[in-house]
Amino acid sequence: MSQQDDINYQLETLAIRTGHTRSFEGEHGEPIFLTSSFVYENAAEAAAKFSGQEPGNIYSRFTNPTVAMFEKRLAALEGAERAVATSSGMAAIMAVAMAFLKAGDHVICSRAVFGSTVSLFEKYVAKFGVAVDFVDLTDLDAWKNAIKPETKLLFVESPSNPLAEVADIQALADIAHANNALLAIDNSFCTPVLQQPIKFGADLVVYSATKYLDGQGRALGGAVVGNHKVLEEIFGYVRTTGPSMSPFNAWVFLKGLETLRLRMREHSASAQKLAEFLNAHPKVEKVYYAGLPEHVGHALAAKQQTGFGGIVSFEVKGGREGAWTVIDNTKFISITGNLGDVKSTITHPATTTHGKLSPEAKAAAGIREGLIRVSVGLEEIGDIIRDITRGLDLI
Ligand SMILES: *Cc1c(COP(=O)(O)O)cnc(C)c1O
Repeated sequence: MSQQDDINYQLETLAIRTGHTRSFEGEHGEPIFLTSSFVYENAAEAAAKFSGQEPGNIYSRFTNPTVAMFEKRLAALEGAERAVATSSGMAAIMAVAMAFLKAGDHVICSRAVFGSTVSLFEKYVAKFGVAVDFVDLTDLDAWKNAIKPETKLLFVESPSNPLAEVADIQALADIAHANNALLAIDNSFCTPVLQQPIKFGADLVVYSATKYLDGQGRALGGAVVGNHKVLEEIFGYVRTTGPSMSPFNAWVFLKGLETLRLRMREHSASAQKLAEFLNAHPKVEKVYYAGLPEHVGHALAAKQQTGFGGIVSFEVKGGREGAWTVIDNTKFISITGNLGDVKSTITHPATTTHGKLSPEAKAAAGIREGLIRVSVGLEEIGDIIRDITRGLDLI
């Protein structure tokens, strides 16, 4: 399928057909090009490739055909001009920081972002003289008030983890652009199947491909998606400093993209059922899922997203003891911090993913002791509900 053809196809078709340029062997499945470098017919061809006069591969830190297939396919799903793959989700976020920030610049980041993203800005990016402020995802006035002349980047994760708060992407894009800053959205929870932030004015979309893009817990990877101009900066940083995606992992993610729409639909449908079940359960105090009409972010999520995703958080009676009782009485759901997998996972944020936060920071972020986060997998939903109910009935 040529790039030009792509415009006319629906997401399901793009996910399966985009990016595969058959090699001379005429293979049906996408090949894995496990090679660090590439060779040329003669010195003139080598010179033309190295100088950039002729397109072509040189070295797999720069480009690799299998990685390029994944990048083209992801960009097509996102409706974007280009994607650059990275070795992990954090490498993608670091690429955004290193490509666009310099000493003296300022970043505004939503408070409830992935823990390592906080450390990345506070501990490492800060070393290069870049200041960061964290603000409440849903408080547009707080974003406006945090803007300074030197603000160059707004970084947002929506919906947030674990409380599923929803950012108004269009409004944040307007705030960023009025200040000549870029808006980057970490879209790992929604994937392009449920949300395409570029349509709402975001400049950069970042992924931890480790989560739903693979969806089967097999490999680490990431990507940055956007237009040619901004992505050229990302590409320059990645090819020079080396957080490139391996060809083997790119192949795993290519296969992941082929089933992404089916999986995201099913994750969302099961999560909705679990959220509704928990919402009616006497031992559950509150459910955080944007698919519930009473959730604060419901209307906005319904506008921006085509589904509410697979992550359901809920507070049980009895604080930490109650939460641990539910977790410890599951039989097949995996007790782990990971998410976005065909296998359901269960987490106690207050003592794991958010365990390093001070009690005040936890309170500010709404991470209470009774809170449980479930990443709803693709096991049968009745089985999932029974696995969670076993402990609920003991509280
Ligand atoms: C996991 C995760 C990351 C980090 O990705 P890695 O692939 O683990 O480096 C970033 N953002 C979100 C929302 C995540 O869930």
